[in-house]
Amino acid sequence: MTSQRTRNRLVERLREAGIKNEDVLQIIATTPRHFFVDEALAHRAYEDTALPIGNGQTISQPYTVARMTEVLLAAGPLNKVLEIGTGSGYQTAVLSPLVKRLYSVERIEALHNKAASRIAALKLRNVRLALSDGTWGWQEKGPYDGILAAAAPEQVPQSLLDQLADGGRMVLPVGSEQQKLVLITRRGEHFTRKTLEPARFVPFLSGIQR
Ligand code: SAH
Repeated sequence: MTSQRTRNRLVERLREAGIKNEDVLQIIATTPRHFFVDEALAHRAYEDTALPIGNGQTISQPYTVARMTEVLLAAGPLNKVLEIGTGSGYQTAVLSPLVKRLYSVERIEALHNKAASRIAALKLRNVRLALSDGTWGWQEKGPYDGILAAAAPEQVPQSLLDQLADGGRMVLPVGSEQQKLVLITRRGEHFTRKTLEPARFVPFLSGIQR
């Protein structure tokens, strides 16, 4: 149920759904998604669907992870990337081999701890995790060539815009009832916003939950 054949079937599905970046598809084929969910759900890990990870949160749908990664990387390789909403750590694991340095923050302590042990077990050495409210970004490590959020704010937090490097790209869902995936690019002090497609993410919340 977690065999290479099952994973390849997921990759074929993503290809059919329009994912074109071969590096992204290759990494999805080799990333053990079953490692990021409870054992009781492992048999469903290679379905193209979001699954519960506890604390009312979900591991993102593989299509969504692939799509956001592809959009983030579309203008070329990225040096420093910030992820908001580590969750299970699955998106983190997919991004890690594709960027030079990856910083990821999660506001729920239990999820942060579990993700940290998975990232350590997989020896993803270019990843730094923090238990933190992503509303504030992670200023000391910025600016970032790429920012990706897996939770939907109603408005893009100003700190995230501020921490985007010149020429940087940010991909995130925006909205409450009707969310849209949005790509924001920065040129100097000028921000361009492109609406991509409808999306369904958990809400972007503030504060840390211990
Ligand atoms: N890509 C993750 C998605 C997890 S769901 C995965 O595949 O597992 C989104 C996560 O964002 C949740 O864990 C939620 O707790 C977190 N989140 C929501 N608002 C946040 C904020 N302001 N700062 C940090 N994390 C946040």
